Amino acid sequence: MQTVNSINFSDKRALVRVDFNVPLNEQLQVSDNTRITAAIPTLKKIINDGGSLVLMSHLGRPKGGFEEKFSLKHIVNELSKQLGIKILFAGDCISEESFRLSANLKKGEVLLLENLRFYKEEEKGDKLFAEKLSKHGDVYVNDAFGTAHRSHASTAVIATNYSKQNRCMGLLMASEVESINKVLTNSQKPFTAIIGGAKVSDKILIIEQLLSTANHIIIGGGMAFTFAKALGGNIGKSLCEDERLETAKNLLEKAKQKNVKIHLPSDAVIADNFSNDANSKNCDTNAIPNGWMGLDIGQKSIEQFSEVIKNSKTILWNGPMGVFEMSKFEEGTKQIALAIAQSTKEGAFSLIGGGDSVAAINKFNLTQQVSYVSTGGGALLEYIENGSLPGVEALK
Ligand code: AMP
Repeated sequence: MQTVNSINFSDKRALVRVDFNVPLNEQLQVSDNTRITAAIPTLKKIINDGGSLVLMSHLGRPKGGFEEKFSLKHIVNELSKQLGIKILFAGDCISEESFRLSANLKKGEVLLLENLRFYKEEEKGDKLFAEKLSKHGDVYVNDAFGTAHRSHASTAVIATNYSKQNRCMGLLMASEVESINKVLTNSQKPFTAIIGGAKVSDKILIIEQLLSTANHIIIGGGMAFTFAKALGGNIGKSLCEDERLETAKNLLEKAKQKNVKIHLPSDAVIADNFSNDANSKNCDTNAIPNGWMGLDIGQKSIEQFSEVIKNSKTILWNGPMGVFEMSKFEEGTKQIALAIAQSTKEGAFSLIGGGDSVAAINKFNLTQQVSYVSTGGGALLEYIENGSLPGVEALK
């Protein structure tokens, strides 16, 4: 599939779907510019070729219609700072005025369109809306990996308005897809997937998919207790989805058939309260006293899991090992993150994705010590579950 690198944008207007869905503070200023920074290499490549840019994105979840707090005009300053040039802004993404502005763009000029989700048609994947948007550019570029799992007008439907030669991935999208493929299709073995977080129900499909590719699956976090109970353990008042006990048993059975080794935590840090001030102690995962709950993996589990990670050549990590937001229960997540960093140093490829594991790797300042940190939580998980994404398929 082509990327912006295979197109010369000289004298062309590129319509780029970016993911500028950034957090704003109370003064409506950008409080985390990561997503803007991530789009810059693609935008610079097009400008350096002598092209012009029309940028489109969503921001937040407006109800349909203009809402001041979701206006993309609030990000104009930050974008201008990062690109080092003035940014033109169109206060409506398909108005006459917006088309006049995009039609008059000169080499190197940049126009940002107002929030696409001010039109209900965007999320509905409306064909006519997509066709109107397509009038803004000669070439369509999708660099919004974070929304590539949606079949929205600007992320997927619009691609049909362009010939194959005139649609492509941006550099961010390309590196995300490349890193997932390194894990899912070309992984060096042993491949270890580490899955944590709160709920089994959120991760079943992923674990099922991983049974076809992974050699080891490490399960930690709150979801591990549903497995422990399914195996007959006492888990006290730990997080548990009783309606998923059968599912957990079935997953363990399938793993056995497929020769995938599932690693469950043998011990846990338990607490008498969901609080950083709770009393806490170490305990076997299957013998948690009544009134206590497991909030982190224990020391034995850290050592067992770290050993598996150390011997892996490919590592995928989604979901924390415990309630890492509280310092008392962060150790498991931190030690697993350190083991991944160490293994990466020794040559393994490590992909970290999904909101909370990214937050964890940031918290422990290890972002630079893993191979790739995905910018798209939901998109990454759906890619793993389905083997593709609507936003990527539409470009093929
Ligand atoms: P998820 O979004 O499913 O990846 O879940 C992440 C959340 O799971 C984080 O906020 C963690 O605090 C929480 N979590 C991890 N381990 C546990 C646990 N043992 N008990 C309760 N919550 C947990």
